[in-house]
Amino acid sequence: MDLLQDLQDHGVFVCAGARPTAEELSAARERRDAFYHRLIGEGDTMWARGHSFREISDLHRRAAIGLGVEREWAYVPMRLNDCPACGEKVKQGVAVCKHCGAILDAEKAAQHGLGLGAKNSAGQAAPGARAKSNSSASGQK
Ligand SMILES: [Zn+2]
Repeated sequence: MDLLQDLQDHGVFVCAGARPTAEELSAARERRDAFYHRLIGEGDTMWARGHSFREISDLHRRAAIGLGVEREWAYVPMRLNDCPACGEKVKQGVAVCKHCGAILDAEKAAQHGLGLGAKNSAGQAAPGARAKSNSSASGQK
């Protein structure tokens, strides 16, 4: 009955009647949650071993997301864009290129005290210092 057990783990279940009863549904949910917990345990182990996103399968990720568990490994690696100024990879949605300092999103940059908009707001930290702290805070691996 290993195969059946596996199917049940994946959310497929066999019910006695034509429609699943509430008990059958909640039992299926419990089994799925138990399965998810097991996957999260596996994910933790794999992550601890190599911190490699490649080892973590979509199933593991789905388990963490499904249970609303916060895991570093559950996040899909950031998509990267090419900086139009220097061609280096930069995260999507960032205001400033961390490599060459080009303003990629003027509006957002201004909000962070960078770029043209920053000149209007007195009392802001020096743009250079801001940029530095931003890039280290969002440091990628
Ligand atoms: Zn750049």
